[in-house]
Amino acid sequence: MTASDLINLSGLIDDAKCFALVRQHRWPEGVRCLGCDKDAVIRDDHDDVQPCRQRYRCKACSGRFDDLTGTVLAGHHQPLRVWVLCLYFMGLNLSNRQIALELGLDSLDTQAMTEQLRRGLAAKTPAVELTGEVEPDARASSGIDEVYVVAGHKGQPAAVAKRAGSGAGAGWRAGRAAARWKRTSRPSSA
Ligand SMILES: [Zn+2]
Repeated sequence: MTASDLINLSGLIDDAKCFALVRQHRWPEGVRCLGCDKDAVIRDDHDDVQPCRQRYRCKACSGRFDDLTGTVLAGHHQPLRVWVLCLYFMGLNLSNRQIALELGLDSLDTQAMTEQLRRGLAAKTPAVELTGEVEPDARASSGIDEVYVVAGHKGQPAAVAKRAGSGAGAGWRAGRAAARWKRTSRPSSA
């Protein structure tokens, strides 16, 4: 697989769903103000550069923030979908070097991204160590399982599984991802 395959893959990822994923993780009970923690929050237009990035305004304290404010994902030059793919590859146990190759990124950039993502997808996520042997529970609470659903590698779970060949645990993780993909791709059978 080469970088050109990846460009296609990245293009298939839905930006709106990536932002919805972050939102769901940060505020499972609904958006709360980052300043005063009240839920008197109204939507306030979208980001100028990223149209799917929702802005908010707090009616209680007049605080303003958006989907990514205060997270490792804010102010980074990589689009959110690249972060999501990076997290997906981490879940498949790919090395930093493999991820850099797949995403066409600088290796230092990739290292910084994976280090940040190990702390959680959003700022409020508890710190979880994802290297080495990872308990399924820890992975679930980190949000990686949900990322499988979104990133999904629609149509190509087998290709991803094959490429994730090295490293302990890669097999079952990839298999699980593929199984997950099959389940989520057939909502009508549920
Ligand atoms: Zn507030």
